[in-house]
Amino acid sequence: MIRTRFAPSPTGELHIGGARTALFNYLFAHSKPEGCFLLRVDDTDRARSLPEFERGILADLKWLGLDWDEGPYRQSERLPLYESSLCKLREKGAVYPCFCSEERLACLRDDQLRRGEPPRYDGLCRDLSEAERERRLQELREEGREPCWRFALSSSTTVFKDRVKGEVTFPAGSMGDFVVVRSDGMPVYLFTSVVDDHMMEITHIIRGDEHLPNTARQQAIFEALNWVSPVVAHIPMILSKARQKLSKRTGSTPIREYRERGYLPKALNAYLAGLSWACPEETDRFSLKDLAEAFSLKNLSASPSIHDETQLLYWQKEATKRRGGLRLCEDLATLDPRFAALNPTSLKALIDDVLDEYPLLPQLRDALAFLLTRPEGAQERRAWMEDLASALRELAPWSQERLNDVLRAFMKDQGLKGREFFHPLRRVLTGCDKGAALPLVLEALGREEVLARLLGDML
Ligand code: GLU
Repeated sequence: MIRTRFAPSPTGELHIGGARTALFNYLFAHSKPEGCFLLRVDDTDRARSLPEFERGILADLKWLGLDWDEGPYRQSERLPLYESSLCKLREKGAVYPCFCSEERLACLRDDQLRRGEPPRYDGLCRDLSEAERERRLQELREEGREPCWRFALSSSTTVFKDRVKGEVTFPAGSMGDFVVVRSDGMPVYLFTSVVDDHMMEITHIIRGDEHLPNTARQQAIFEALNWVSPVVAHIPMILSKARQKLSKRTGSTPIREYRERGYLPKALNAYLAGLSWACPEETDRFSLKDLAEAFSLKNLSASPSIHDETQLLYWQKEATKRRGGLRLCEDLATLDPRFAALNPTSLKALIDDVLDEYPLLPQLRDALAFLLTRPEGAQERRAWMEDLASALRELAPWSQERLNDVLRAFMKDQGLKGREFFHPLRRVLTGCDKGAALPLVLEALGREEVLARLLGDML
């Protein structure tokens, strides 16, 4: 039985990278019957974890439809579990107390960086004699303080199998002994994650490849505790078009913002499904169920994917078309209740006509706001508009086909060129320079309103 997890740290908002990780874990869990997708909040970094980030991440996941089967578990509520695993590591001599001051560590780091070496702990406290250790512990405790605890890495090469990257090797000495419990007693993510993945019987970990160095360290903890590591699959990071790490500047937008801009969750999922996963052609990208059935670790790609807003917009267009005009009428009414009072048939016809141009709901609302509010129009008024009003006064039926005929015939009669006629007409009716086909606009506005807008004060 597959058990996966999404384990966000509530230190910021959910961005597309995190959302894709959540999606893939969700899909993989549901690719087989009885799979379980679990949500765990990695919140042991007290200084940086905020409840509002947690709330936001959970709300985003729900909005995306990525419902979890278990959780949310919070690491901050599971501290005794980590404590007992730390005891085990202590008994085995796999961890040791470190008394190094912040100042010493900062100097060490600076020196290493200056020499062009990656910063890592030099193991000073690892070799203290038992007696020295006891003495220092005593000394510290008298001051009411505790040491931090470091994991004693073996001096051999770390090798593990990754389902996307193949065999991954970290040469001996490339990592320093790392902290598992801070001096304030809080366990560190690297360690808590191992304990939880074991206790929660996680079978597969799918996450971004920026975690590869963490995996190397976590493999060592699994081994020290005699636990079997879940299968790991590290997906390549999502890069900007300039092939840089996504940042605020290069387009890492929080999911919240996409929601506010009017993207549909189905569009985001369909888009994210294509980032480093070769989703089979025949899959319905708008169905999480279909995506899950098609999902397999085998089709994950090791090469980075590029974030492309045009692609996202493509999926948005497809998703809104699929949603259909009638549902979009309802959606519009949630943004402005006045849309609910309009004739749904002509509103739907307008929506269908402009959807490709305005696939985001707020854009659609703005493009159709002329239905709700009469534009100023005075400057656009032309002398021929009075005659047009007369031509329309008795028109029956008031249908877009008939309107189309009348408009074209009128333009010809008046000897007006297309732009001389349509542009002022559109301006006076809608206040905009572009938008839906004019016969549709007239039909939706209705005779009375069209005459009023054409004649202005002359009415
Ligand atoms: N809390 C970690 C993060 O958000 C989780 C990584 C993981 O183990 O999947 O980066």
